[in-house]
Amino acid sequence: MVGQQLNPDLVRKYNKPVPRYTSYPTVPFWTDGMSTERWKRSFVRRFHEQNHTNGISVYVHLPFCESLCTYCGCNKKITTNHKVEEEYLLTIEKEWKLYRSLMRQTPVIRELHLGGGTPTFFSPANLKRLVEIILKATIAHPQHEFSIEGHPNNTTPQHLKVLSSLGFKRISYGVQDSDPNVQKAINRIQPFENVQAATDSAREAGFTSVNFDLIYGLPFQTPDSIERTINQVISAKPDRIAFYSYAHVPWTSKAQRLFDETNLPTAEEKIQLYLKGKELLLANGYFDIGMDHFALPTDDLYRVFAKGKLHRNFMGYTTQNAGLLVGLGVSSISDAGYAFAQNYKTLHDYYTAINEGRLAIYRGYELTDEDISFRNYILDISCRGITFFQKKDMELLHLYVFPELEILAADELIEWNETFVALTEKGRYFMRNVCAAFDIKLHQDENRKQLFSKAI
Ligand code: SF4
Repeated sequence: MVGQQLNPDLVRKYNKPVPRYTSYPTVPFWTDGMSTERWKRSFVRRFHEQNHTNGISVYVHLPFCESLCTYCGCNKKITTNHKVEEEYLLTIEKEWKLYRSLMRQTPVIRELHLGGGTPTFFSPANLKRLVEIILKATIAHPQHEFSIEGHPNNTTPQHLKVLSSLGFKRISYGVQDSDPNVQKAINRIQPFENVQAATDSAREAGFTSVNFDLIYGLPFQTPDSIERTINQVISAKPDRIAFYSYAHVPWTSKAQRLFDETNLPTAEEKIQLYLKGKELLLANGYFDIGMDHFALPTDDLYRVFAKGKLHRNFMGYTTQNAGLLVGLGVSSISDAGYAFAQNYKTLHDYYTAINEGRLAIYRGYELTDEDISFRNYILDISCRGITFFQKKDMELLHLYVFPELEILAADELIEWNETFVALTEKGRYFMRNVCAAFDIKLHQDENRKQLFSKAI
């Protein structure tokens, strides 16, 4: 099915505020003031269960950017002063030491991801230092995968050579849109030649997977401009493409208040952008992996998806299923299976905590057995398109989930009975909505729905 064959009425019906489900329960349900001691207990338990089998993931948040993109919802700090790199690296080193002191085995690193902000704000020498700090006295998991988010305007061949020599094989570039009017409105001037040059340099340096992030729903975008952007993107043949819906949440993202809302596409126009983009990607050899992600059949993400082994975490879809995610740096999130924890969101609070010798977490959530069950249903749907019900959950399923499934089935988005639910081909386009049927927290607190961006 290509995008244009989707019924716009159906798209309209399901274009409601729903989470992206990089976690369950989702962040608005976490609580401030999570006890560090309780978090440490969950962390230690999970580490020792998982380290020698699945290995661990490490995410490092590098928050600095030289200029502000007005659509941005990330945690970032705008500065052109590169002296900030030093203090940040020293603090990450201290934080990692705090976590290392909780590990009674040598950590087996399966996944290392540098995200931001703009990780390539840091000099090649400082990125090398950072990676060496993390990998010092660790064991590389046989399937390890190291990846980084790069800005096409400042990722140099030097960055790429250094990272490649350290084992990095995946890079993700923020492309967003190549139309000059759109770029001006979002304050991200980025000629496509820069994207092409950064992509060529990555491949020359030995990177085997290049991802482009694109956004639809930005100011001044039209179906024609999306078509031009996607045709340019396809000419560079990225292995993966994330085609995100612009999340307009000016109540949490101050920079978005700079937009003149009259320049944003209407809901109806946004649907057309979405349909046009998907149609072009599918017609040009990309496969729909799920929730905004596309991949060429030669890419590992597609191969893992085809084997039913895809995983999803705070970094989005991943080929790796490490049992524990350690998030380092300001605002980073950690996932210990039984609990989530998030670091302070301001540099001041983050530096203060770490310099006082304590973990910098300020909020989190401890999962109940019920949460773990429903988290697994959501992960199954988003990664494999099918899930099987457990008897112990029947009461909640009958109360909250099955009535929603009736509606989804009437629209032919799923097939289901009292043992399983599976997405239909049409249902893959509405995966977030199907996941939301399993979101018991959201069913129990309808008011929080408004905190999420719309599905499209
Ligand atoms: S979109 Fe990326 S580069 Fe732009 S401000 Fe946000 S984090 Fe920085």
